Amino acid sequence: MSEFRRFVVSLLPDDRTMRGMMRAFEAFLEILRCPCRAALAVDHDEVRCEGCGKVFPIVRGRPVLIDEARSVFAVDDYHRAPAETRTLPRQVREWIRRLPSTSVNLSATRCFAAMKQHLFAQSAAPVVLVVGSGLEGKGMATVAQDPAIRLVTLDPSPCSDAAIFGDAHDLPFSDASVDGVVVQAVLEHVADPVRCVAEIHRVLKPSGIVYSEIPFMQQVHLEGFDFTRFTHVGHRRLFREFDELDSGAVAGAGTALAWSWRYFLGSLTRSPRLRKHLTRFGRVTGFAFELTDYVVGAHPSSLDAASCTYFLGTKGAGPVSDKDVLAGYRGCLRES
Ligand SMILES: [Zn+2]
Repeated sequence: MSEFRRFVVSLLPDDRTMRGMMRAFEAFLEILRCPCRAALAVDHDEVRCEGCGKVFPIVRGRPVLIDEARSVFAVDDYHRAPAETRTLPRQVREWIRRLPSTSVNLSATRCFAAMKQHLFAQSAAPVVLVVGSGLEGKGMATVAQDPAIRLVTLDPSPCSDAAIFGDAHDLPFSDASVDGVVVQAVLEHVADPVRCVAEIHRVLKPSGIVYSEIPFMQQVHLEGFDFTRFTHVGHRRLFREFDELDSGAVAGAGTALAWSWRYFLGSLTRSPRLRKHLTRFGRVTGFAFELTDYVVGAHPSSLDAASCTYFLGTKGAGPVSDKDVLAGYRGCLRES
């Protein structure tokens, strides 16, 4: 075997990894539910609902727990996903994650450390659900790589490596079954973010904790599968059933300007090929704008123009009033 071939083979998931993937969701079978909320049982290469009798296929080791009547995703999408459209091998993505990233995130490292502390105060082996986990989010390593934390990943994309194919509108988990939920840059891509947050609230235990990031000043992305933006206050209102521990800007006005610069350059031409080159040029030259976020990104004036905001909170007893939500505005536009 040539050195090059040996190198390529080393990038592919081995049998042990594949067997691990086959069993990843089964470790959570006790808390997994049919979208009708009844318990599930594994039957060879299918998962069967013990309530409504519905059968869900297991594709590439992952159950497709999608209710087609209520979702934009179809079960056939998962059977059809060709191998060449799958993401990079797990080992390559692991290396990429370890590279220093140029994208700004002022909150994740601090919030995940606080989340981890909260989780272990509640349980010695907490379960954390990562919604929309096509890729491990920035700063998440402190939670994801702790062997005592039982991480379960869910994503609707046929190309993702999540343990479960599922839709955030109908989380396939029993009530009050998980200790933590992570939802980073996902809720702009769902048709009904209110329903998804209600689902997060439902599956969290009474002491559960959630970390959410949602873009505010960002252009359309993910091939147009993009619905909504939230201000910092709007993000707080979306999670009004939760008690706030922390919130603010993930990335500030500098990152927002870098995105705008890139998309402005891309808008100057109808040619897809030229647009690709112009946006690549914009990505390199807009980098300096992003660096300003490390200096002023957390300032109140930057929050009004933030590229993305975060919310860290615990499951609360009832909704926070709109008056209190508004009182939480921390930008610079209100006269003192
Ligand atoms: Zn069912």
